[in-house]
Amino acid sequence: MGLLDGKKAAIFGIANEKSIAWAIAQAFRREGAELAVTYANETVAKRVIPLAESIGASLVLPCDVRSDAEIKDVFAEIGKAWGGIDTLVHSIAFGSKEELKGSFLNTTREGFALALDVSAYSLIALMKEAHPLMAGKGGSAITLTYYGGQKVFPSYNVMGVAKAALEMSVRYLAEAVGGDAIRVNAISAGPLKTLASAGVGGFNQIAGHVAEKAPLRRNITQEEVAGAAVYLASSLSSGVSGEVHFVDSGYNIIGL
Ligand code: NAD
Repeated sequence: MGLLDGKKAAIFGIANEKSIAWAIAQAFRREGAELAVTYANETVAKRVIPLAESIGASLVLPCDVRSDAEIKDVFAEIGKAWGGIDTLVHSIAFGSKEELKGSFLNTTREGFALALDVSAYSLIALMKEAHPLMAGKGGSAITLTYYGGQKVFPSYNVMGVAKAALEMSVRYLAEAVGGDAIRVNAISAGPLKTLASAGVGGFNQIAGHVAEKAPLRRNITQEEVAGAAVYLASSLSSGVSGEVHFVDSGYNIIGL
């Protein structure tokens, strides 16, 4: 018997086979969940659609989270197909390359607005539409964050501000939907080589430092993040909401 037998999950944020959301999708299927998978645009569609089909996703839909109309359409389709939803995975972030290098002082108004919109506001926008489909049956929403939202890392810049906003949104959302037995949590993952992290200046330096200094003396894997996501989606975590759960080889506990 799987930990997610009978559960229906919508997964936002697969771009390719390195995506954290892809590891989560595979783990959810293995544990018995039915999946709706979305893709940001036609460029990633070429990779995402075959991946989603390879694990038997029931729905594969376009969704650029900057568009309220596309978000509405996704949940309308999910409502039509399933009537309700148990789990939402938000594994989405974007900051333009120019913002993710050099001094934070060079952050532009446009770069700030875009990073905060795609990486933080989008969780609120998705929750607004998911809420009626989750209400009454409980449910669990999971987002992905990084320690750079709590401490300063070189080049992470505006994305750190976006992650701070995302983590606080997790707490406010947890309070807002908790009365309907819906839980909202974040996983704070250690550095992983993906499309998103390739855009962060000095990523290799950060990953090397974690491998040397973290209590486990290594970096984590996408599968380890997926394991935590299974726990947060399952009834094993039924008493957990508003949390930021680190999957980072313990790096965040280290002072010096
Ligand atoms: P990824 O590039 O595979 O995933 C990012 C996803 O965001 C992609 O699927 C992309 O299509 C999507 N996206 C970007 N703009 C979008 C938009 N406008 N509409 C819809 N989708 C959009 O990289 P990843 O590392 O798997 O990132 C997933 C999440 O994990 C992000 O929130 C990232 O910040 C977080 N995270 C990553 C790391 C890491 O080191 N890789 C560490 C901690 C947290």
